[in-house]
Amino acid sequence: MKQLTLALVAHDAKKDDMAAFVALYENDIRPFTLFATGTTGARVMERCPSLSVTRLKSGPLGGDQQIGAMIAEGRIDALFFFVDPLSPHPHDVDVKALMRLALVYDIPMALNRATAGRLIESFRD
Ligand code: PGA
Repeated sequence: MKQLTLALVAHDAKKDDMAAFVALYENDIRPFTLFATGTTGARVMERCPSLSVTRLKSGPLGGDQQIGAMIAEGRIDALFFFVDPLSPHPHDVDVKALMRLALVYDIPMALNRATAGRLIESFRD
């Protein structure tokens, strides 16, 4: 069976949540190919050193757009995007563009921790 690919992105205030989420579900996440924006990927690998995560650019420097492009190319099977709704983001247009492409291509997208748990559990056999 084709190995599925997950994309991980977390805004600064949500990076602890993302690292904790990945640690909690490490065994579920291990079989996937993982991509992440730069800082999110670094935090996840720091917390779970045995996971292999391909780090793209940091979100504000184009990482969100890189993941969006991968979605458009059919290379991402699910997006875990932990959004901070309480802070302004300099790359807000990129954030919207990433969500928009996930919608356009009908990719499963978890925008918070509660949904992420249910989504990753849905991939269990
Ligand atoms: P980062 O990017 O993982 O490099 O911080 C995430 C974002 O803020 O879009």
